[in-house]
Amino acid sequence: MSLPGFPPMPDFPAGEVWLAGAGPGDPRLLTLLALHAVATADDIVHDALVDARVLALKRADAELIPAGKRGGRPSPTQRDINEVLIERAKRGRRVLRLKGGDPFVFGRGWDEAAALTQAGVKFRIIPGVTSGLAATALAGIPATTRDTNHAVVLAAGHRADEDGAADWAALARLGQPIILYMPMAQLPGIVAALRDGGLAADTPAALVQSATTERERVVDSTLGSLIEDARRNSIDSPAIVVIGAIAGLRRDLLPSLVGWR
Ligand code: SAH
Repeated sequence: MSLPGFPPMPDFPAGEVWLAGAGPGDPRLLTLLALHAVATADDIVHDALVDARVLALKRADAELIPAGKRGGRPSPTQRDINEVLIERAKRGRRVLRLKGGDPFVFGRGWDEAAALTQAGVKFRIIPGVTSGLAATALAGIPATTRDTNHAVVLAAGHRADEDGAADWAALARLGQPIILYMPMAQLPGIVAALRDGGLAADTPAALVQSATTERERVVDSTLGSLIEDARRNSIDSPAIVVIGAIAGLRRDLLPSLVGWR
């Protein structure tokens, strides 16, 4: 792919792995580099959340290897995925590992990069638009404003390794907004811990489900009503939850904010 006036796209050499993010959902939020990678790769090892219209941009003879939960089958372990990447790269394939959002934000991208390094396989990272920041922005929720916050916490609702609990009370005491990925399973416990940490029940909150897709839904709430609002609106995965003053700001924008679709 070449665009007039643009820097040329890098070569995708045989035996290399590219770890790329596909963005939050809508194919148009793919970066140009990720698009180039999809159109060039021999093998595409992809997560379940990657849109079929993105995968359809592959070469006719490129192979798709699903690496996420599909059709009730258990998802492959991280170790299995690492092995697939290494084995195919060593056979001289140009391997694209395509993940939702950004590969280094709750995406185990580092684990794969480390495994490739250990195996002596060269790789490149292509960042993607992370869903926590895209979902909020598109709903009219700014990650920061000068009046509300000087930091923002990106937190995983359930820890991928599950060998320790996040210190929610400490995060509450920071007084900075929290953007929760994978929030649904542990929401009651997280809300209780944030309340214990001192966050008031009327702290603004919002839920954004399936941002940038046909299933997109935004629910305005407060910390105290979050669980009930999630249940009443049948919010399910993938969704993010925003807690903090920034969540309340979108109300002011609604008269002019044009929806995603
Ligand atoms: N690497 C990804 C996150 C992977 S963890 C990224 O940077 O976005 C998967 C979680 O991401 C989901 O449980 C959900 O919390 C969030 N997510 C992914 N796509 C989403 C979307 N379209 N809308 C809302 N949340 C999304």
